[in-house]
Amino acid sequence: MEPVDVDVDVLVVGGGIVGIYQLHRVLEAGFTAALIEAGNGVGGTWYWNRYPQARFDSESYTYAYLFSEELFDEWEWQEHFAAQPEIERYLNHVVDRFDLRRHIRLGARVTAARFGDETGTWTVRTDDGTETRARFLVAATGLLSVPFYPAVPGRDDFGGESYHTGLWPTEPVDFAGKRVAVIGTGSSGVQLIPAIADVAASLTVYQRTANWCTPLNNRPITPDEQSALRADFESIRHTLYTSASGFLHVPHDRGAFEDTPEERLAFFEGMWNSPGFSKMTSNYTDILTDPAANDEWCRFMIGKISAIVDDPETRAKLIPDHRYGQRRPPFVTGYYETFNKPTVSLVDLKTTPILQVTHDGIETADGLREFDIIVWATGFDFGTGALNRMGITGRGGIALVDEWADGPSTYLGVVCRGFPNLFFPGGPHGATGNNPRYAGDQVDFVTGVLVHAREVGADVIEVSEAAEERWSDMVNTYASTSPFSESSYFFGSNVPGKPVRYLLNPGGRPKLLSTIARAVRDGYGDFELSRSPARTGSDR
Ligand code: NAP
Repeated sequence: MEPVDVDVDVLVVGGGIVGIYQLHRVLEAGFTAALIEAGNGVGGTWYWNRYPQARFDSESYTYAYLFSEELFDEWEWQEHFAAQPEIERYLNHVVDRFDLRRHIRLGARVTAARFGDETGTWTVRTDDGTETRARFLVAATGLLSVPFYPAVPGRDDFGGESYHTGLWPTEPVDFAGKRVAVIGTGSSGVQLIPAIADVAASLTVYQRTANWCTPLNNRPITPDEQSALRADFESIRHTLYTSASGFLHVPHDRGAFEDTPEERLAFFEGMWNSPGFSKMTSNYTDILTDPAANDEWCRFMIGKISAIVDDPETRAKLIPDHRYGQRRPPFVTGYYETFNKPTVSLVDLKTTPILQVTHDGIETADGLREFDIIVWATGFDFGTGALNRMGITGRGGIALVDEWADGPSTYLGVVCRGFPNLFFPGGPHGATGNNPRYAGDQVDFVTGVLVHAREVGADVIEVSEAAEERWSDMVNTYASTSPFSESSYFFGSNVPGKPVRYLLNPGGRPKLLSTIARAVRDGYGDFELSRSPARTGSDR
């Protein structure tokens, strides 16, 4: 049998923050590689989610790449929480800076990816009819990349303009003087709503579940802060590489009831005024574990919301009925204030559900409201959405979507048995904390596995059954210890019919890092490394 020709050693799918880094790492390691991306530009999440006021809610310099001090030095983020245009510019800069663009093909969506048992290679077909054969396939396709539209009757009958936050057009949308509806009040909706309210003739917000929104507290990065960031690069990197959350925020040192009520109030005031996720990562140590501590924090936030929102009915609708942290909390700028504008109204879908979308607008149990534009801020098919839609078939022609019909089974959230030479860093079961940090750990691990296989002369890499079972058991066993409720999209429960399974990593980043460290120390013993039949045959 002849040895198998491949177009590239490694084919990366997805040109977001993970895919770009993976491409860079494998090229640096001496593999031939290419990247294909469905969008017409790089950026992934930060290409598609270009709605007004889309921005990081992790600090810009903690979300950005840390692999190159020169890159860190030369890119001066303008704000502590950068907005989408700056993020997209940054990712394009990285692509050019590291000469990656010539390896990237844009506007090509994967329709099928087939593993060849004999050849040990992947044949990947895109919607332009092109086939690429690669030894290794890395699906850096993201957790939040398949927009979810609820099955509302008549959605396609609407005569005005419709948009999804996760599929925002590259041409600006003109809201000026328009009657606008926004459906959904997750992190995307609450970023967008104040921006639309500033220009639209009217804005109607359709809310099913109120979320605990706290201020992002964004501001420009001052020249002194820019200098400090550069001077502290090594210590920033060390903290981000070793912290459980992947943030710079310092965990607090005591529980809520170790303070007097007055001290607690002052502490919560500080939290409210602190940046982004520090309300979770630096809050009282028991805020997510002791319901009484959580209640204290919620009471404080209710006080804040009540002080901002004038209308008592609107205010009541905006107060969540779940504990803080049971759902991923959004961070906002001027969100609650928006509801004081005379042009803005809030429809509570729990009391008046959507019946249908018509040609003219949205009909709820209390009547029809007419619109020129409807924005669906209704989230994503989280975790497995993209992988299940790529037409992936592994050993013996088994389809990934069938293997995962009851939910995913993985090792470290990067590989699964039956699908040799396939890796999905940033995939389900890996995520925890600040995304690029743990996904970066996974990319480094994948690169290490590929280099190791090359060193030992193997061309087929497959995770052992025992290793996958260990990791998946850990996920399923400890899912109940996570603060997130089963109604959160982290369990996939926002998509009707999807199995309710925990899609994050309940062991957190420490578990990911310690398992990776052990795997490397043990010489990647969790993998079965072999030579493909074609290769073995050609050696005879
Ligand atoms: P999301 O958090 O899933 O929110 C979707 C919203 O749509 C929810 O309010 C949901 O209500 C509503 N919805 C879904 N189906 C509905 C239906 N049938 N009828 C009415 N309402 C419905 O999605 P997202 O806001 O796009 O955010 C997803 C994630 O992306 C975030 O959690 C975050 O991780 C990430 N993100 C990050 C940033 C950032 O700042 N860096 C910005 C945006 C997004 P229910 O809650 O009742 O289901």
